Amino acid sequence: RWPVANTTRSVWPRSVRKLSAAAAAAQAFQPFGLLLAGGASTIAIRRRDQASHALQLAHTELQGAHDQLDQQRQQLEQSEASLSKALVQAEQTASHDELTGLWNRRSFNQRLAQAVARTKRTGQPLSLIMLDLDHFKRINDTFGHQAGDAVLQTFSALLSDRSRANDFGARWGGEEFIMLLEDTTASQAEVLAQHLCMAVAEHDFARIGTLTVSAGVTQYKDDDDDQSLLVRVDNALYLSKLNGRNRVSVVA
Ligand code: GH3
Ligand code: MG
Ligand code: MG
Repeated sequence: RWPVANTTRSVWPRSVRKLSAAAAAAQAFQPFGLLLAGGASTIAIRRRDQASHALQLAHTELQGAHDQLDQQRQQLEQSEASLSKALVQAEQTASHDELTGLWNRRSFNQRLAQAVARTKRTGQPLSLIMLDLDHFKRINDTFGHQAGDAVLQTFSALLSDRSRANDFGARWGGEEFIMLLEDTTASQAEVLAQHLCMAVAEHDFARIGTLTVSAGVTQYKDDDDDQSLLVRVDNALYLSKLNGRNRVSVVA
């Protein structure tokens, strides 16, 4: 049946009546509810803004710390690079002759000890050439010490140019030079020494004119050690000086 109009008592079912009562109550309290909701959302917005500001600050701070770290890392990298450069330079200074750039005597002695040990083990030939510029004192006396230095540099370049990659050439001291030749017999070393003598004699040393060099050669033999080898190559050089200079002598 349908509800009849103008009846004082509603004929709507009880559940519908309850619902409409709730709706009426909600309507009555609506302005208050809106006020509450409005206040809550203002607080929420303020809090959100505060959090966002704090986040922004933290982000800026983090960015600053990151930049600082990056700067420190760059500085560290730079000091590391200059340290390793200094180390390379220190190693170069400790092992090489400053004037000529050749290995120095200390390096030569180390290398000789290694080479002798290797030859004792393998039986491969090992030879030495010792060279000494002839009448070098005259060059200094006539043209000055600087001109003498330039000659030492030129001679060192000639020596390096004629060496193989595995040859070890060093400035023994003053105007004396020494070469260590692994896997090389005395007669092979003699050929190289002859070439060097000729190269020097043929070189035009500009103002100074001609210059000669004397050389001694020896080869490792059983029971040799570093010292006995050095004594023998020095004796060979002495023979070249004794016999008129600008020559090569071999002492077996
Ligand atoms: P010899 O033919 O017998 O070897 O005679 P020499 O004059 O070459 O030998 P001596 O030992 O009498 O003289 C060597 C000279 O080498 C003396 C020294 O002043 C010079 N000398 C040593 N080292 C250097 C250097 O680094 N630069 C210059 N310019 N001269 C040097
Ligand atoms: Mg000399
Ligand atoms: Mg000398």
